[in-house]
Amino acid sequence: MKKYHAFAMVLISSLLLAGCTGNLERKPHQASSLLMDTIVTITTYDDSSVQELEKAMDFVKKADTLYNRYDKDSDVAKVNSMAWERPVQVDDLTFGIIKEAVAYGNLTKGAMDITVGPLVDLWNISDSDDKNIPSGAEISDRLKLVNYRQIVLDDKNRTVYLPCKGASLDLGAVAKGFVTRGVAEILRNEGVQSALISLGGNIYALGSKPGGELWQVAVLDPFDQDRVTATFNVRDQSVDTAGDYYRFKEVNGVKFSHIIDPTSGIPAGGVASVTVIADDPMKADALSTASFVLGEEKGMALLEAVQGVAGLMILKNGEVITTANFREVAKNFKLIESDKIHGQN
Ligand code: AMP
Ligand code: MG
Repeated sequence: MKKYHAFAMVLISSLLLAGCTGNLERKPHQASSLLMDTIVTITTYDDSSVQELEKAMDFVKKADTLYNRYDKDSDVAKVNSMAWERPVQVDDLTFGIIKEAVAYGNLTKGAMDITVGPLVDLWNISDSDDKNIPSGAEISDRLKLVNYRQIVLDDKNRTVYLPCKGASLDLGAVAKGFVTRGVAEILRNEGVQSALISLGGNIYALGSKPGGELWQVAVLDPFDQDRVTATFNVRDQSVDTAGDYYRFKEVNGVKFSHIIDPTSGIPAGGVASVTVIADDPMKADALSTASFVLGEEKGMALLEAVQGVAGLMILKNGEVITTANFREVAKNFKLIESDKIHGQN
């Protein structure tokens, strides 16, 4: 693990600065849509046509329809409404993400747990007007329902079953990564060699820029998102950031993040942000959420232990920590000096 004691250098969330260097001779094609509770933007930079973009965007729409647990017709809502009652047959796309998310539950020892639904509902972070803080008793009640090991998957019949009454799935921590991977696969199969895919904080850089240069990624300062505090270059890699600054609520001056620690039942808040680079966007998504929950020591230990990932964590005091392989994976990694001290103690 490497530590950067740079009090005036604080990082970030990942923001892809597409086309900021290099010559992009051909006119890019771009599609943008509000889906999966975020802005989805797909941009291709080679000779591909708009059909490829439409195909990719249709895939995102389909996933959104299946995974949105607030839509009663979605697969996830059906599984949740049938908790304790019976298994529900789901689309292959739903079965696939749940099965993989369970594996990440194991890998992260439950720090990333898709049965966190009852706690997400209890904290209601997305409603900033709701200033209610749940009681200890309410939290303990919900905690009894949270454990990804309860999920019963039947491969043959493609069914998903939650045996605990009141249990519910929430795919928010992995859905964008899973879908980003799907979009990249669609574009590759269509012969696209140069593209940027962005689903909220999840980014995938497909190939290189048309001129062969790498894409540049900027990490935002979690204490001031008008600032870019680090940059690096990638190709055929995904970058994902989990942080407490883009979805949270504040009650009496205390910030509660949308990422909840499934052990305590309380929003995680040990670090300001975690950026993960991985070849696989689902991996980056699952591990950024998990390491945000686990905090400095355990979170960095997880990122060091998993093959094929590099991580950068920004602590609450502004200190930046990276995995030992970060400079190797994140080409031309630069911390940008700032004239302000942002960290909070
Ligand atoms: P992300 O933005 O990828 O870090 O995912 C956060 C979203 O996943 C939240 O908005 C919740 O819907 C859900 N979530 C919150 N905490 C967890 C957790 N510990 N494990 C799995 N999903 C979570
Ligand atoms: Mg995530």
